[in-house]
Formats: sequence, C-alpha cells, structure tokens
Amino acid sequence: MLNNIGMKTGLAAAVLLLLQACGGDAPGAVAGDSAAAPQQTYEWKLVTAWPKNFPGLGHAPEVFAEKVEAMSNGRMKIRVYGDGELVPALEVFNAVSAGTAELGHGAAYYWKGKAPEAQFFTALPFGMNGREMESWIQYGGGQELWDELYEPFNLIPMPGGNTGVQMGGWFTKEINSKEDFQGLKMRIPGLAQDVLSRLGGVPVNMPGSELFTSLQTGVIDATEFNGPYNDLAFGLYEVSDYYYYPGWHEPGSVMEFLFNKEKFEALPADLQEILRTAAEAASLDMTNEFTARNTISLTELVNKHGVELREFPDDLLQELNRISQQVIDELADLSPIGARIHASYREYETNVKQFHAVSEEAFTRARKL
Ligand code: CA
Repeated sequence: MLNNIGMKTGLAAAVLLLLQACGGDAPGAVAGDSAAAPQQTYEWKLVTAWPKNFPGLGHAPEVFAEKVEAMSNGRMKIRVYGDGELVPALEVFNAVSAGTAELGHGAAYYWKGKAPEAQFFTALPFGMNGREMESWIQYGGGQELWDELYEPFNLIPMPGGNTGVQMGGWFTKEINSKEDFQGLKMRIPGLAQDVLSRLGGVPVNMPGSELFTSLQTGVIDATEFNGPYNDLAFGLYEVSDYYYYPGWHEPGSVMEFLFNKEKFEALPADLQEILRTAAEAASLDMTNEFTARNTISLTELVNKHGVELREFPDDLLQELNRISQQVIDELADLSPIGARIHASYREYETNVKQFHAVSEEAFTRARKL
C-alpha cells in the first residue's frame, strides 16, 4: 500500500502528465517543434477490380478513400481507379505488389494463379459464411496466415467488405441434375472452377464487365457474379432465362483491400491506423449495403423484369458439396503454408458450425415454424 507521501507524489506526477498531455506549461515540459513543421501529404492511387463507380463492390473503395481523407484532415488523398483505367481488373494484385499503385481492392481468389492458397481468404464452396469467415480472419488466426502468404509479394491484405451469400447464377437452360453441367461454359471464380471441371463443365475466368456481352453472344452459357444488386446493375436478366439459388460456391465472400507493404510501413503510425480503420469501416458498410440493396433488387428483378427464380435440386447440391470438400482438402497438399491455412480454416469451421447450429441455424428454423 502507498503511504501518504507516496500517494501525494503519485498524484502530483499524474497532474503533471495530464498538463503535458494537454499542452500546458507544466514545469519541465519542453515545447516540441513538430507542431510547427509542415506535415507531409500523400496522394495515393487505389486500383480496383470493378468498373468505376460500380454499385456495392465499387462503392466500398470510394467510401474508404473519403474516410481516409476526412480522418487524416487531408494529409492523404486517394484516387480510385476502375477496371481498365490504370490496370485491368485481374492485374490489381501485380500493380500493388510492384507499387504501380499503392492500394488495391478486389478479391483474393482472383489471384489463384499467383497463390492458390489465397482462395481460402475469399470463400470456399460450401464453406464458412460471411460472419464465420470474418471472425476467423479477425479472431481465429486467419489474418496472420493471410499476411504471411502475401508477405513475399510485398503486400498486406485486409478484409474489404462482404457480399453475404451470393446467388447461384444466370443460366440459359435449366439445371436439373449434374449431367446438365456437362460441357457447360460458365464464368465462375475460385475453387468452384475445379468443382465445375470435375462435372465436365468448362469454367471461365472473366471480370464482371465482360459478362453481359459474353452471355449474349454465347461465349458462355452461364455466369454467376454476385447477388441481386450487382447482377441487376450488369443487366444479366436480359440475356439469360433462369436465376438459380443458392450460391453454394460463395457462401459469403470476403472482399480485399491490398496495401503495398513497403509504402504502408513507411507511413507515420497515425496514418497507418487511419488506413486500417477506414478499411474496417468500408468493409462493414459494404456488408450492410448488400443486405439492404439485395433485398430491394431481388424484388425488382422478379416483379419488374419477370426473372424466373429456380432453386438447385437437393441431390445436385449434395453432389456439389461432396466434390467441393475434396477440392478444398486437396488445397492442403499444395504447400506447407497451404496445409497450415487449411488446418486453421477447418478447425475454426468445425467449432463455429457447432455454435451456429444452436444459434443462427436454430433461430432461422424456429422463425419459419
Ligand atoms: Ca461471385
């Protein structure tokens, strides 16, 4: 226990610290000259995998840029570039890695050609949903593994929004069984490409901006993109017959902010924190925006545009799930880090599913009774 003198000394020290913190003329305080020095300003480029000002996915990087400028009191200005304005959508990873742009916004599974293990950080077919994914990344060790995976590329990744459960996609013919995937040319990203291949389909990788024309001209027979809000914006209902659900291949895709690691680490600590905080805010904004606008857009697609909704048959979903689990487990064999990411993902998935069985799932079932 402090004696009386000790308490008084402690109090005096606390008052002195408080005065110094408030910039008061406490005895012994030395005026710093940092306040007088002009602060360095930054003008950074953010390249994205989306058309400029694209709703939802393209809104998040704009929200991010606005918040960074406001929070930094103008010390950092960020110019957002759409697909093709500075680099094409699928070159975002390379551009930020090389420092052509300091920042990027896209999705980790687009870079499977660079690092196949990156697919763990967007969505896995029949894998964890959006809330589960984000809690794994933030609290389950996912972020540390993601950082480690991108470190050799001079990149720092951060979550950049979540689409929620996506739709199964737009098809020009009915899908009643796995045989209907035979020879089907479908735009689909990530691990679902391998699933489609094993059913005899032909997966195609292309950015969203090319989907309408490719479907219209028969370059592809089917495509998924996202959910009702973004799919409506691309006008996909005009060039296909059936809109299938659920998006088994993307049960809650995490979007991604990319930071050039060298440039990020050279920033003052407060600007680094502002960038991180703005990324978190933009990420949450996207999640909520999609829930709200997908709801409105689905109604518009069905009621105004006469879109025919179809649910994938149960036996087909079971078969897709079976193949998906094989494909996911094979990712573990790619590399030592692939094995560690896979182990972390699977452990978290097992545990969180137990909790959600008695919370989210039980409630969803109860409210339909
Ligand atoms: Ca998608």
